Amino acid sequence: MRNAKHGLLFAALTIAAVAAADDAPRRLAARAIGDTPIFDDLRELCDGVGGRPTGSPAAFRSIEWAARKFKAAGIERVSLEPFKIPNLWLPGTAEASATAPEQFTVRVAAAPFTSSTEGTLEARVVDAGEGSEADFAKLGATAKGAIALVHNKEMKTFDDLFAEYLRNDSLVAAAKKAGVAALLLESTRPRGLLYRHPMSFDGSLVPIPTAIVNREHAERLRRLAEKGEVRVRLNLQNKLGGEYESHNVVADIPGREQPGEIVLIGAHLDSWDLGTGAEDNGVNVALVLDVARGFKQLGIVPRRTIRFVLFTGEEQGMWGSRRYVERHRAELDRHAAVVVFDTGSGRLTGFYLNGREDLRAPVNQALAVVGGFNAIDHTIEAIDGTDNFDFLVSGVPNLVGVQDPIPYLPDYHVESDTFDRVNQREEKATAAIASALVWALAENPERLKRQTRSEVEKLLVDTKLDEQMKAFGQWEDFKSGKRGLFQ
Ligand SMILES: [Zn+2]
Repeated sequence: MRNAKHGLLFAALTIAAVAAADDAPRRLAARAIGDTPIFDDLRELCDGVGGRPTGSPAAFRSIEWAARKFKAAGIERVSLEPFKIPNLWLPGTAEASATAPEQFTVRVAAAPFTSSTEGTLEARVVDAGEGSEADFAKLGATAKGAIALVHNKEMKTFDDLFAEYLRNDSLVAAAKKAGVAALLLESTRPRGLLYRHPMSFDGSLVPIPTAIVNREHAERLRRLAEKGEVRVRLNLQNKLGGEYESHNVVADIPGREQPGEIVLIGAHLDSWDLGTGAEDNGVNVALVLDVARGFKQLGIVPRRTIRFVLFTGEEQGMWGSRRYVERHRAELDRHAAVVVFDTGSGRLTGFYLNGREDLRAPVNQALAVVGGFNAIDHTIEAIDGTDNFDFLVSGVPNLVGVQDPIPYLPDYHVESDTFDRVNQREEKATAAIASALVWALAENPERLKRQTRSEVEKLLVDTKLDEQMKAFGQWEDFKSGKRGLFQ
């Protein structure tokens, strides 16, 4: 990337021109776009630690690394909060090859939360179309004991990405019914790219060995299968385990007047392993660290406590933030706001208000000092799929950055999610905006309001988030009070 500072000069001047009553947010923002170690941190995390699926040795190293980083930034109150995740799934061996009618290597990546093959499996390939119930029904008895190849169109938008997840349950049900021995899911990214596609988010194991298969290899298999019998050898050996412990990294800058009130800024530290978790979500881990460093460096202590949290277990089903909410249940009334970043380094255009129109005015007011960045195109839409979720369903005011899908989306969970993908210029702007925002949320005398359970219920219906929660199997937990905690 080009020199980040140069391109931000205009915005910097805009910041300087705004005369704020308190110049703390201006100073924080100006510092963030200046010379900071944010990308040195990201390099250490991505190149030094690498991909870090929760429960792996690399994930433990990243947790220790992050705690060290907060301490080095001058934060005294740093803790590792332990929590439990139901089932361990880590990738191991994943090999495949075509054995007939031609012999060639087929590149595959095991799908998280699916089972291993018993040794090496060799079977006929059947073309299962797009994996619908009708597609499997059409195959009839030929699907039994076969390796079913499922086609996907190329992923171009967030809707495509969500559609891939929303299909999981029906695909598994149809494949089970047909009695297939394994599933090969065509990669939605062309040119050989593989990625991790989790098949469940509640910790349960899908009993069918499943892998993403290189798109071009999948197409070749499909064309060959049109002509006659195709056989594939598949060896998937995943590391499975029961309940295990991980940690969230929590660092506090205690407030000067209301230390019991908390403004939380968070990002998830864990990542999948094929790449090094730069866009998802190392870059925002580095942002959270750098925002913390800015407050310490400039000696700025707002009215309320700012809590910097690096969650783990996000990729496994948002376990870190879910457990945080459970652990801090009694404190949720005193959580003034939660701000989460989890879409890489694309330009920040505003925030998800997550169904709460009442957040728009205070957020805009907070962003006035960084008005040059024009990050005020907020959406009332509510999102499910990152660490704001359990706060949202518990009524805590929560915001998630809305960012350009590039560069995040094409490299999402892919081998190519590496340090060089990051848009450094935009990330510095986001760090400036985030600094000013959390300062205002922690400083302004008026506090954002926590919603009641009935207000949250209405919000979920109004934003249609209830439909997504049903599709992701979260609705029953909300209904029964397991998720969405109120006192
Ligand atoms: Zn993420």
